[in-house]
Parts: sequence; C-alpha cells; structure tokens
Amino acid sequence: MKKVILIRTGEIFLKGKNIAFFENTLINNIKSHLAGIEYKFVRSQNRFYIEDYDEIFQDEIIERLLTVFGLHSLSIATKIETSMDNIKKIALDYAPEEGQTFRVSCTRADKKTIPMPSFKIAGEVGGFLLSKIKDISVDLHNPDVVVNVDIRERGYTYIFSKRIMCAQGMPVGTSSKGLLLLSGGFDSPVAGWRMARRGMNISAIHFHSYPHTSLQAKEKVIDLAKVMTKYCGNIKLYIVPFTAIQDEIHESCREDFMITVMRRIMVRIAERVANIDGSKALITGESLAQVASQTIESITSTNEAVELLPVLRPLIGMDKYEIIETAEKIGTARLSELPYPDCCTVFLPEYPVIRPKLETAQKEEAKVRNLDKLIDDAIANMEILDLS
Ligand code: ATP
Ligand code: MG
Repeated sequence: MKKVILIRTGEIFLKGKNIAFFENTLINNIKSHLAGIEYKFVRSQNRFYIEDYDEIFQDEIIERLLTVFGLHSLSIATKIETSMDNIKKIALDYAPEEGQTFRVSCTRADKKTIPMPSFKIAGEVGGFLLSKIKDISVDLHNPDVVVNVDIRERGYTYIFSKRIMCAQGMPVGTSSKGLLLLSGGFDSPVAGWRMARRGMNISAIHFHSYPHTSLQAKEKVIDLAKVMTKYCGNIKLYIVPFTAIQDEIHESCREDFMITVMRRIMVRIAERVANIDGSKALITGESLAQVASQTIESITSTNEAVELLPVLRPLIGMDKYEIIETAEKIGTARLSELPYPDCCTVFLPEYPVIRPKLETAQKEEAKVRNLDKLIDDAIANMEILDLS
C-alpha cells in the first residue's frame, strides 16, 4: 500500500492521429518540471501516475505539476493490491466525516479479480462505510464526498477522493514558438503565460532606455521572465537598447504621435528578432481600450508596421481586474507592481493621440532620421539571456 499521484490529462485527448506527439511532449514536460526529485513515472491509457517518491516531496511534486500545461486535474491516491478487503480498509481513509453525504464510484479495467459488477462493488463499499461511520448518508447526485475506486489491470486498485484542478491548456512545445514583447507591467507576462498555455514555446524581447530608465527596470523584466519559466520552460530573453531610437523620436516626431511611432518601431525590431529566433508570431499584452495606445486605430497603425507575422493579443478582451487576478495566480504580480518606469513612460506626451490616422503615423515615422541604421544597431547590440 502506498501513496501515488494520479494525473489526468486535458484537451490533448481531443487529438486524433497526432496524439502521440502531444502525449510525448507532455510526458517530457512533466519530467523536466520534476527534475531533481526521485519517483517512478507510470503511464496507463489516458492517465499517468507518479509513484515511489518520498512522501516528504509530495507537496513539492504537486506544486510543480500545477505549472504543467496540458494537465487537467490530479488526485492523491492510495495504490493497493486488488481485493475487496483491501478496498474497504483503504476506503475508510477517504471516507466522509460525520454529518456528510457521500457516494462510492467504481470503475474497472480488470473485471476478473473481483467478479462483480461495478455498481455492486460500489454498493458493498458504501454499505461498509455506513456501518463504520456514524451519521453519514448516501447522496448519489450531489454528495459532499466521492470515494473513487479505480480497479486497474495487473491486480492494482487506486482509491482517491479529492481532485485538484491543474493549469489545463496544451503542452508547451506543441504550438510553435512566439516572441513576447515583455514590459514590466502586469499585462505582458500574463499574455505570455496565456500563449504558453495554448502550447507555445515563449521567447521574449524587452526594449530598455537606459539611462532614461533605470537598471532596476531591466532587472525587473529579467526577474519576470524567470518567474514565467516555471510555466513556460526555458525562455530566451532579448534585451534591446532603445535609447538612441527614443531620443530620435523625441527629436523628430510630433509629440502626440511619439507613442504611436515608438510602437511601430518596436514591432519592426521584434519581427526581425523573431525571424532570428525562429518565432512564428509576436505576442503583446494589449487589451482593448486600456490606454490611448490600445484603441483599434492605434492597433491598426502598429499592425501595419509588421510585415508578415501574426500579432497575438491574448488579453485583448480581458479586463484589467481579470489580468491582475491571473498575474497574482502565476506569481508575476508582486514584481509587476514594483514602481520602476518602463521606456513607454519616458517622454510621455501629455495628450497622446487616441485614434491615430495611419497616414499620419507613417508620415511621422518617416521623419525619424537613419531609422534603418538605428534598428540595425539596436539589434547588433542586444543582449541575449537564456533563462531557465
Ligand atoms: P504591460 O502591463 O504589459 O506593461 P501596459 O498596460 O503598460 O502593458 P503598454 O505600455 O501600452 O501597456 O504596452 C502594451 C504592450 O506593448 C505591452 O503589453 C507589451 O507587450 C508591449 N511593450 C510595451 N513596452 C514594452 C517594452 N519596453 N519592451 C517590450 N515590450 C513592450
Ligand atoms: Mg507597460
């Protein structure tokens, strides 16, 4: 008799012929998240089991599994040799408390060891619990506690009760790679997390304007990316010096169009870096109407500066409140709320244009002198960090 962790997979079971690819990626991800801990990995149809671990690591294993995309839920179970006596004995460990209602649910892959229909086994175990615990009753439809008895092949049965919901989504590495424009705010880390949750590998690019912005602002972004690796796996972070470009925009462009032009140049550089990196999409933390640069007209004028790659905006329909809630859940909020200003706030115009005309944006951008050279220099001088 021993404790095991039973893992149920999520959406990948909607996959038909490709399932092996999704499943193998998921298994590799589970193993890399559990690196450094000893355990045995057991695979059985649409479930996995983590077995033979030292119980002092149980909480740590669960905490790490909760960061693996592609898992639906998990349960701590007891694995026993299949026999009616064993099942009854261990069912007591998962039984309801006085005053609670319960149901026993039985599933069987092995029908030989206990030659009784599942509902009869459930009934017998239920009857046993009723005889042992005072003041409990059966409720088949809406019980407080479900005692699950899962009789498997090779003579083993798993008994469990609670389900812990996992991060769901698709295994990271099954949906290509995207380059996240990562600033220090609440939004972009959540945007990266959301795309990783749809199976994307994530790289990140950050524009910094030292000495207009502090070195702490840059460190904060590195720390944010490190927190993201918990969910996303390794992240390559490109840190692009943006000071010369920002100074030039400040010098040459109409004040109310500075942010519009800056955004256009950011995505131009990001697309070039994405091509170097092998990323197939750009990802931003934009959310419609959140600020002046996030109106449809602003998004149009940013989009037009991208040649080919799709720009994914997973937060476009989310409220700030929901975004912050996610940031808290994934552990980026405590960093995002640190106050170091980001390059977007340097030379911030008092009245940025809210609905920029595309032609005006193009015209203002054309005023930036030596833009191609400035972009080449920025890319040539970027720092590249491999975070894990
Ligand atoms: P965030 O919370 O992500 O900082 P925000 O609400 O501050 O976003 P903006 O400053 O308008 O919004 O930025 C919109 C998006 O542009 C960001 O979510 C991010 O994807 C990208 N971005 C902004 N500044 C930078 C930067 N310095 N480096 C990289 N990407 C940036
Ligand atoms: Mg920002």
